[in-house]
Amino acid sequence: MSIAAINPVSITWTISSFVAWFLGSYLYHGLGVTLGYHRLLTHKALTVPRWLMYLIVSGGYLTLMGSPIVWVGVHRLHHQKTDVPGDPHSPNEGFTHALYGWMFQMDKIQSTEELHTQVKDLMADPLMRMLGDSHAPWQALLCLIINIVARVVLFLLFGWTALIADLLATLIVFWSPQLVNSVCHLPNFGYKLQATKDNSRNVWWVALLSLGEGWHNNHHAMPTSARHGFAWWEVDITWYTIWILEKLGLSKKVIRPPEKNYQIQS
Ligand SMILES: [Zn+2]
Ligand SMILES: [Zn+2]
Repeated sequence: MSIAAINPVSITWTISSFVAWFLGSYLYHGLGVTLGYHRLLTHKALTVPRWLMYLIVSGGYLTLMGSPIVWVGVHRLHHQKTDVPGDPHSPNEGFTHALYGWMFQMDKIQSTEELHTQVKDLMADPLMRMLGDSHAPWQALLCLIINIVARVVLFLLFGWTALIADLLATLIVFWSPQLVNSVCHLPNFGYKLQATKDNSRNVWWVALLSLGEGWHNNHHAMPTSARHGFAWWEVDITWYTIWILEKLGLSKKVIRPPEKNYQIQS
């Protein structure tokens, strides 16, 4: 073993570098899903310049989220049929179905025609269409290939530390929205801040992992709100990011929830 390998300065540098890459990757991928795919594309809770939209959304695509058209189409259907027959991923049909099983059945749950009626806005964007506009397996395969190529480039440019940190961040960020879909619709978890007809709940640990998306009952009560953490204790990293973008003049038409003293309902 070389002296450099056991040098405390070298070890400290490697750990610091790993933590920095992990946090940077977590924010890039996490915000890609929450700010990009979800609050921006699906719910139009704010507007940003087109170049910034593509930059943010790329973080979600490189978390194996698949084509934005497909993701948005599935999620809009979830809001229309929350916890009733036709919901693509309700835990009423089993926890593992809500966690990941639904991904392999979407071609049966949502026809291409229905998908296209959900996402007329995104269908007008040729780049979005190129990434896939149906539940055909090729769009998932294309996403997987582009994700692998991106990691090879990352490794060649920055080495093992960056690659492993990014893969770990990707793994956690990938499962975060799946936890929102499943855990945040189970009556035994979290609480309701808003009276909604569906089973959506606010679950603090899912909210921390998913950069604010775990305040899911709030989200179902007001889907177009750019802010998901309504109460003072509901930490919402995605909202803080949107707030900063707004202060920088990069996000506009930001939709906010009513300001009031929120109380836990049940
Ligand atoms: Zn939901
Ligand atoms: Zn939503």
